[in-house]
Amino acid sequence: MDLSLVIPIYNEAENIPLLIDAITNSLKNTELNYEIICVDDGSQDKSTDVLKEIVQKNLYVKAVILRRNYGQTPAMAAGFENAMGKVIITLDGDLQNDPADIPLLLNKLEEGYDLVSGWRKNRQDDTLTRLLPSKIANIIIGKITGVKLNDYGCSLKAYRSELIADLNLYGELHRFLPALAYIEGAKITEIPVNHHPRRFGKSKYGLGRTFRVIMDLLTVFFMKKFLTRPMHVFGFFGLISLILGVFIGVYLTFIKLGLNRSIGDRPLLILCVLLILTGVQLFSFGLLAELLMRTYHESQKRPIYRIRDIFK
Ligand code: UDP
Ligand code: MG
Repeated sequence: MDLSLVIPIYNEAENIPLLIDAITNSLKNTELNYEIICVDDGSQDKSTDVLKEIVQKNLYVKAVILRRNYGQTPAMAAGFENAMGKVIITLDGDLQNDPADIPLLLNKLEEGYDLVSGWRKNRQDDTLTRLLPSKIANIIIGKITGVKLNDYGCSLKAYRSELIADLNLYGELHRFLPALAYIEGAKITEIPVNHHPRRFGKSKYGLGRTFRVIMDLLTVFFMKKFLTRPMHVFGFFGLISLILGVFIGVYLTFIKLGLNRSIGDRPLLILCVLLILTGVQLFSFGLLAELLMRTYHESQKRPIYRIRDIFK
């Protein structure tokens, strides 16, 4: 199998047949052996029936039906798990991505990249609720994760399947796939792709996703910087806190014992206790995180490095 297309579907009944046709059209001049994996994420409209019907007629299409609505990230993970292609391309089920761009992504991947991301240069969405937040998010995400892309939110992306096998998806981390891939040492690039307004169905997201994006961003940031060395963060702040606390403690002890003055009503005493306690806490968090991190890697036999090639 050369190529697997993974498409999350949640209430997109009208879009599915058009999408499958467009994909078939865009790939008909290639010799590629491909499959189209539609993951039905607990749709409540006719999507499931439409998919079942298409699977009967079209040998290229495979439908994975989830038991309930889990969200776009789990739907994509289910698709990845069932994909057999050497290359995996994801796109939305709402026809906003253009299947005609698929060959472009494949060509770019051939140049030696592990991940090619689409950039919706002419994005057709609402300015205030979508374009503006997304613009800000792209800048922040780029700064924090170190992968500079113009458009993180574009679902149209191509991956080498070895890369996908290394990525673990939780929360709504599908938006951070390039960042997670970067942590795994992937070569990443971006090319402009088409984007169309939604014709059928409604968008599943509103402004409410902002908070979730921020939280996911913090997770990714921590994973990138400290996954294999949590003690370096917790230990650092723990140590500073402890040293300050002990320093103040010594000073207060001198005042009490040396100068024989009362210290019971001093705010400094509370600060001293707080700093020492926090320091000890952070230290023990760090040690626990070290243990967890070792369990995480060793239980999965997950190396802390990734090899691109071995020559001999
Ligand atoms: N989607 C899904 N499960 C969900 C929400 C969305 O599988 O819980 C799918 C949806 O059917 C679409 C894709 O994820 O194919 C992107 O969703 P949408 O078009 O609503 O996002 P937007 O383009 O507005 O950011
Ligand atoms: Mg969409």
